[in-house]
Amino acid sequence: MFCPEESIARMIRASAAAREAMIQEQIAARGIRDAAVLAALRAVPRELFVPEAYADEAYADRALPIGPAQTISQPFIVAYMTSQLEVASMHRVLEIGTGSGYQCAVLAHLAGQVDTIEWDAGLNREAEARLAALGITTVRFHVGDGGLGLPDSAPFDRVIVTAACPHVPIQLVNQLAEGGVLIAPVGESEVQSLVRVTRRSRGHQEQWLLPCRFVKLRGAHGWPD
Ligand code: SAH
Repeated sequence: MFCPEESIARMIRASAAAREAMIQEQIAARGIRDAAVLAALRAVPRELFVPEAYADEAYADRALPIGPAQTISQPFIVAYMTSQLEVASMHRVLEIGTGSGYQCAVLAHLAGQVDTIEWDAGLNREAEARLAALGITTVRFHVGDGGLGLPDSAPFDRVIVTAACPHVPIQLVNQLAEGGVLIAPVGESEVQSLVRVTRRSRGHQEQWLLPCRFVKLRGAHGWPD
């Protein structure tokens, strides 16, 4: 006899096993051992953030399409950026490029409060519904040009940009608290490097990390459409 509860329980177990394999093989094996970051990844069912057609690949070692020429980042990149951000529970975090909402959900497990900005109203709506379904209540969603940040809500302790920037986004660095950290992909439209910027009492410090490839930032500080 078909028993829906049993089949749902089986699905949840399979998803947890796939997630654990992703954490061990793609993330811990590549040097990310921060227990809080790994716990946050463990808490977010990634299959809910990819289109149904890609459900079988939700835990694959690559970025996946999420709709209008946009992608959900490779799990390792999400883990790497999150660990470089060194988020603490009292932090206020600003994310640019909500996309599927996956990175945002991971951040919500670490930070006190997250503001996230998405250009595309449809993606924003879907991301908001996913986080609500997961019972996450500490995220404020905004539709607009994230390149401008949220000057009225600044300063932030952490800023994460998940779309490619043509230059270090100084306007967002200026919305950091002193000692605050921003991480962003910066470079050409086809390939970038992740840069970690720390705001100092005077000026800021840049540390260039890995090469990466993100979709282009739009708007005032991005590339023309
Ligand atoms: N963090 C996302 C992946 C982001 S993909 C995730 O976890 O799924 C990049 C996203 O940035 C896209 O959704 C794109 O629509 C958005 N974007 C591009 N330019 C933007 C801008 N100026 N402001 C806000 N969002 C922008």
